[in-house]
Amino acid sequence: MKIVIVGCTHAGTEATKNLARLYPDAEISVYERNDNVSFLSCGIALNVGGIVKQAEDLFYSSPEELSDLGVNMFMLHEVLEINAEKKELHIHNMVTNERFTDTYDKLVMTTGSWPIIPDLRNIELNNILLCKNYSHALTIIEKAKYAKNITVIGAGYIGIELVEAFEHLGKSVTLIDNMDRILFRYLDSEVTDTVEVSLSERGICLALGQTVTGFEGEDGAVTTVVTNNNQYTADLVVLCIGFRPNTYLLNGQVDMLPNGAFLVDEYMRTSNPDIFAAGDSCAVLYNPTGVKAYIPLATNAVRMGSLVARNLLKPTVKYLGTQGTSAIKIYDHHIASTGLTETAALALGMEVKSVVIEENYRPEFMPSYEKATLKVVYEENGKRIIGAQVFSKADLTQSINTLSVCIQNRMTMDELAYVDFFFQPHYNKPWNILNLPGLEVEQALRRM
Ligand SMILES: Cc1cc2nc3c(=O)[nH]c(=O)nc-3n(C[C@H](O)[C@H](O)[C@H](O)COP(=O)(O)OP(=O)(O)OC[C@H]3O[C@@H](n4cnc5c(N)ncnc54)[C@H](O)[C@@H]3O)c2cc1C
Repeated sequence: MKIVIVGCTHAGTEATKNLARLYPDAEISVYERNDNVSFLSCGIALNVGGIVKQAEDLFYSSPEELSDLGVNMFMLHEVLEINAEKKELHIHNMVTNERFTDTYDKLVMTTGSWPIIPDLRNIELNNILLCKNYSHALTIIEKAKYAKNITVIGAGYIGIELVEAFEHLGKSVTLIDNMDRILFRYLDSEVTDTVEVSLSERGICLALGQTVTGFEGEDGAVTTVVTNNNQYTADLVVLCIGFRPNTYLLNGQVDMLPNGAFLVDEYMRTSNPDIFAAGDSCAVLYNPTGVKAYIPLATNAVRMGSLVARNLLKPTVKYLGTQGTSAIKIYDHHIASTGLTETAALALGMEVKSVVIEENYRPEFMPSYEKATLKVVYEENGKRIIGAQVFSKADLTQSINTLSVCIQNRMTMDELAYVDFFFQPHYNKPWNILNLPGLEVEQALRRM
């Protein structure tokens, strides 16, 4: 059996390792246009801010490790075309410029995503950068050394992490987003209001509710970011406005969402029985709504990559879907979210309610304690939990993983009220903070 894997970051690395282990007799080839595999983009901001000293440490595998598993690793090779009917790939060797054809019995598409680049005036100016891969990380770090005024466009997780890192380096930083709140997709205003205050207190200029219309430059390099109601001096700009699935190779050959994300079933099969896909190139089942959605996360990528291998020859292990669970640390705030925010649920026309708990996370007789804010969103009819957010100076982010399990298993607020959680004064109170939203909904809140 001849297996070809296209793309080798998270989904690709995971698929490759598992395929090599499960099918030792197969001929497995990987085509990757970069010269590296498994780069953890989530470390870029940590590297920029100096917490991680070297970008080279942000890899957890290597072409050599995968070669040692018996896999043919074609690095710096770009797949230019795929003919699914003939099971053929056309490939460009980026080193020798040679072009050649390969064939497959089973194809694994782990081609991921690419940053959205808006069609804006003067977007081609120098020092307007993307933030996705190893080479972007090196460029950002190098250029940030000499920049004074840095503008980040997009106030999602990636933008916020970069803003904090640049501020830490002593730069003058502006954050622009067309929404009127930061982290709009992940958190409601109960959480974002406080974070915005702490960003502003550190001198970060929050230019929210503004749309970038273009850039001005001098000698080919950016000098100004222009929005619909202001302009900002900038000698470095980083675009963090989202990602598009990288699926053009199979346009018209397999089913996709309107944004181009591959539609795969729970066994990672595309609409072509010999083509599997995983990671950012795919839509995933979003459990809070039960609808396939585009939620590009490394967590989804590694799970899906490993399932490709398990399901390659016959449907064996199902993907359970996702809640889009994620976390961020901004200065001394630990924040995590899962599922739908109340804003997003209402925008979808769902009838939902929410509970916000504000409580010290452990007993006040302890030498220290911190306030925690927990918000849980649930359906009005039936009280199914569909989303949650936590925010504290104490690290309570794991509690959002617990609520992710609750959403995945379609639990209700009534059930949450009486779930068994431990009590130990170092960590919590006799009523765990996770029980409290359920109890409040029951009107049976008992604080001890
Ligand atoms: C700055 C940043 C921070 C992030 N932080 C987090 C985080 O904290 N937590 C989290 O869960 N997720 C995070 N993510 C998202 C996460 O990085 C992605 O979800 C993950 O990279 C997806 O992995 P993937 O393998 O599906 O796709 P990708 O990482 O996009 O990799 C696709 C690979 O395919 C290759 N490829 C594409 N087309 C071809 C072709 N035609 N020929 C050959 N090779 C090709 C590419 O070169 C690439 O190596 C972050 C992303 C960024 C950019």
